[in-house]
Amino acid sequence: MQFIETRGNDGQKPLSVPFSEAILSPSASFGGLYVPKSLPTLDASFLEGHLGSHYKTLALDFLLNFGIDIETEVLQEALKRYDTFDDPANPVPLSQIEEDCFVSELYHGPTRAFKDMALQPFGYVLSKLAQKRGEHYLIMAATSGDTGPATLETFRNQANVQVACLYPDGGTSDVQRLQMVTEDAPNLKVIGVKGNFDDTQNTLKDLLASEDFKEELAQRNIKLSAANSVNFGRIIFQIIYHIHSYLELVRKEHITMGEKIYLVVPSGNFGNALGAYYAKKAGLPIEKILISSNVNNILTDWICKGAYDLTSRELIQTESPAMDILKSSNVERIMFDKFGAARTKELMEALANDGKYQLSGVELASLREDFDASFSDDAECEAVVGSYAKKGYMMDTHTATCMKAYETLREKKCMAVVYSTAEWTKFSPAVSRALGHEVKDDVEALKWVSAHANVSVPPMIHALFTKPVMHTVVVSKESIKEEMLHFLV
Ligand SMILES: *Cc1c(COP(=O)(O)O)cnc(C)c1O
Repeated sequence: MQFIETRGNDGQKPLSVPFSEAILSPSASFGGLYVPKSLPTLDASFLEGHLGSHYKTLALDFLLNFGIDIETEVLQEALKRYDTFDDPANPVPLSQIEEDCFVSELYHGPTRAFKDMALQPFGYVLSKLAQKRGEHYLIMAATSGDTGPATLETFRNQANVQVACLYPDGGTSDVQRLQMVTEDAPNLKVIGVKGNFDDTQNTLKDLLASEDFKEELAQRNIKLSAANSVNFGRIIFQIIYHIHSYLELVRKEHITMGEKIYLVVPSGNFGNALGAYYAKKAGLPIEKILISSNVNNILTDWICKGAYDLTSRELIQTESPAMDILKSSNVERIMFDKFGAARTKELMEALANDGKYQLSGVELASLREDFDASFSDDAECEAVVGSYAKKGYMMDTHTATCMKAYETLREKKCMAVVYSTAEWTKFSPAVSRALGHEVKDDVEALKWVSAHANVSVPPMIHALFTKPVMHTVVVSKESIKEEMLHFLV
């Protein structure tokens, strides 16, 4: 399987690359992204064949059908990372919360957010590739909270890869910050940046574009890669759990094979939703993908009106911070798939130059064949968290944004799967507030919620508060380069 570019080819880069190249060097011509030329088929016989499969077996078969240039043994080892999840027999459990609504819990990995689903196996694959080629890579991540911990965790002590993680100081929860600053492997560096997530991401982009930073890296024989969802190596693992959720519903006899379902996806950079889109396109029986946002609802406008407009917006900090994003990177891959490279380049250039673009009526109609969207503000999310907690189901604030989409956007009587992207323990002060109790910090919130709602706090979250802090640097964006060069000596 070869990979091509969302904005077309510049005549410098190869016309197409294998998977290994696309994940080691994920930036494509004209600032575009890599996408697969085609997708494997998820037909009835594939799905029937995996009704009795373990998650890892399903995943391996799917990856082999994709025809990527990674050895089977490497993939098998990578997938063993799921054995560290809460229940190795089923790393992604499904819980029923309404007669026709199920929650697929993607957060049972080491950092308690769904980023582990892709980053855990991805980290293993990338490090193996680097070792095999005798190359050294630097991964730089800008995080709004969950990507950072999951990226650090997957690469800790992995050969031939160093990770530098930038986070917005004050823009993450205490738990998320502690997950990063207590990481203690020599190949990991964590830096707080003064500003919000978009500032942090822009700082990183400027650094990556700077010629003298590239020169410094070249002198040290270090190549750059990326672990955010611009990297297709993450997206490929995010197609699999959608298939798994579907098979779980069939196995538990809530649907029959072939019956369509809704997927409800709380979205930021649109990686999770893109995985769902590829699964649908490959043949998984999905009626529609319902996208939920918080008040940073640029995706709601995109899907409901075809408008993508940054000029009329400022990023707003919410209680679902992992979705506090305005420049959603994977939207581009959807546009490429639907409208082609020339049009995608045109639209992405309009976004860069004018801060906005508008899809045509025909384009919008095509988008709406697969997606619909709504958003919830913090008060609505708190009400959702509170009401499900009363019924005995604890969800986090990101997952809570989904319930309005579930309630208002379904046009057919189909079952719905809501994706839970984080455990409540990562956002416990907001969850505590939702249950009617204001707290001063995460420690108090974790204690209060676990006592009052009768839910437990997993050991890796407990441990964070007594682990030594290894990374104390918080800098303005001007000082990032210097910090980085210290780390890379
Ligand atoms: C990353 C994240 C999201 C958004 O996922 P995308 O794939 O970027 O759309 C939603 N919720 C949580 C908790 C996350 O960590």
